[in-house]
Amino acid sequence: MSNPFIGKTAVVTGGASGIGYALCLELSRRGAVVYAADLNAEGLERLRQESKSEKLHMTVLNVTDEAAVNALLGRVVAEQGRLDYLFNNAGIVVGGNFEDMTTSEWKKIVDINLWGVIYGTQHGYALMLKQGSGHIINTASTAGVMPVAKSTAYAATKHAVVGLSTSLREEARKHGIRVSVAVPGVIDTNIFSTATNLKDHDYSAAMDRVPFRKMSPNRAAQAILAGVARNQQYIVFPGYNRAIVFMNRSMPSLMGWLINKAA
Ligand code: NAD
Repeated sequence: MSNPFIGKTAVVTGGASGIGYALCLELSRRGAVVYAADLNAEGLERLRQESKSEKLHMTVLNVTDEAAVNALLGRVVAEQGRLDYLFNNAGIVVGGNFEDMTTSEWKKIVDINLWGVIYGTQHGYALMLKQGSGHIINTASTAGVMPVAKSTAYAATKHAVVGLSTSLREEARKHGIRVSVAVPGVIDTNIFSTATNLKDHDYSAAMDRVPFRKMSPNRAAQAILAGVARNQQYIVFPGYNRAIVFMNRSMPSLMGWLINKAA
C-alpha cells in the first residue's frame, strides 16, 4: 500500500501525551517531518527521546494563544516549504453535574477544545489555500455526535468541532483541501486522570465503568492515519464505537438513554 505521509509535513497539537504523542511517533515512522506542539515540555522531551528522529520538532505552545499558533504554522511553512497535515488534537475534559460547572470552567474548556481548534483551522486553512492542498484533521469524540451526561461542556465543544469540520470539508473541497474529523471511543490516555472533576465526580472511575476495553493510543493513531489516507469525513473507531454512532443516528432517543443511564 502506498504511504501518503512519506516526505510530508505534519503539525500535531497535544503531541506530548496520548493520541497526539502516538500520532507524532507513527507519522515520523512513516517518513513525515513532524512538528509536535504542546503545553507540556516534559512530555515533548519524552517524545524526542523515544523517537530519536531529527525530523521531529518540538514546540511548547498553548493552543489558546492564537498568535503562537499562527507563528508556529508560519514557521513550519518557512522551514519546510509547506504544511500537508494539521492535526488539531489537544483537548481536555471536565466532568460532573451541569449545575456544578462554573463560568470559568466553561471558558477554559471552550478556549482549549474549541478556540484552540478554530485558531489552528483558520490559520492552517489560510496557508493550505495558498498551496492549493492540505488536510486538516480535528479530534472530536463520541461526545461530539451523541449526548454524554456529566460531560455537557466537553460534549458541547466536541459537537462544535464536528460541525466546524464537516461544514468546512464541503467548502474546502473545491480548493483541493481535505478536512476530516476523528471520533475516538475510549482510548487509554492520561486525559481522565488529569481531568477536572466537579464536586464529587471521579472521571477515571466513571470511565472504568464503561463496558468496553480501552484502545491503546498507538492503535488509535493507526486508525486515524488509516482514515486520513482514505480521506474519510468521520474517522470513527474502535469498531464498537462505529456501531454506537451508527445506531445513534437512527435511534437517538433510545441510544442517548441507553448510553447514559448509569451516569
Ligand atoms: P492526553 O491528556 O493524553 O493528551 C492531550 C494533550 O493535550 C496533553 O499532552 C496536554 O498537555 C495537551 N494540551 C491540553 N491543553 C493544551 C493547550 N491549551 N495547549 C496545548 N496543548 C494542550 O489526552 P488524549 O486522550 O490523547 O486526547 C487527545 C484528544 O483526543 C483530545 O482532543 C480528546 O478530547 C480526544 N479524545 C480522547 C478520548 C480518550 O478516550 N482518551 C476519546 C475521545 C476523544
